[in-house]
Amino acid sequence: MALRGAPDYEAERAEMVERQLRRRGIQDERVLEAMGRMPRELFVPEAVRRRAYDDSALPIGREQTISQPWVVAAICQALELGGDERMLEIGTGSGYSAAVLSLLAGSVVSVERIPELVAEARLALAEFGAENVELVEGDGTRGHEPSAPYDAIAVHAAGPEAPRSLLDQLADGGRLVMPVATGPAAPQRRRRLPRSVGTDMLTVFHRVGPGEWSQGTIGPCRFVPLIGAEGFEPRNS
Ligand code: SAH
Repeated sequence: MALRGAPDYEAERAEMVERQLRRRGIQDERVLEAMGRMPRELFVPEAVRRRAYDDSALPIGREQTISQPWVVAAICQALELGGDERMLEIGTGSGYSAAVLSLLAGSVVSVERIPELVAEARLALAEFGAENVELVEGDGTRGHEPSAPYDAIAVHAAGPEAPRSLLDQLADGGRLVMPVATGPAAPQRRRRLPRSVGTDMLTVFHRVGPGEWSQGTIGPCRFVPLIGAEGFEPRNS
């Protein structure tokens, strides 16, 4: 039983799965189960831990956020994972989405550009006990060639377009899910870091054959910018 005043994270997690995910269209039972098992409180800083199951993104430092639970679920569902996939993730952040993906795929390589976040995510993933996740520090817009090709790729930051390197590192039949910056401002925003990230379109790219991709949209969302050689340029450069 929870102590008076102490948060009952297990109950909050079960409620999150019902109210934020199932009732809002997440139907993939494996995704619902994985998110029902994953202690999100391990991946958020002490200062916001009590809000771990809020229906929102939360700050994790260095101007970055842990994504809203529904967004993580929507990305996982769109990847249509069966359990054996070799996955690439761009934007480890807190490590939460990597941890969820570790339950849904065979192996996960996750790339993050901010070294401090890599270090913190490594600790949180070890605390949970995820053994099939490899963390890589670097520019994920270039992908991670040593383990390519990947059956599925998830990008957790919004770029001007799908990086060509990522599309190329996708296996035939594979899927890439990524928020693409949209709207009338998109051409001006291209390759320049937007002041505030506006609406992005969560988009799924399906590699149907060599050099051939089909594309569909999942819905509008808001993400932090994807910064790198095949993304936006960093501020002050
Ligand atoms: N999936 C994360 C959400 C992180 S927010 C979670 O569950 O917590 C997006 C992350 O993408 C940020 O940590 C940001 O630093 C990172 N990022 C932005 N551009 C990147 C790039 N080119 N390569 C790797 N990571 C990048």
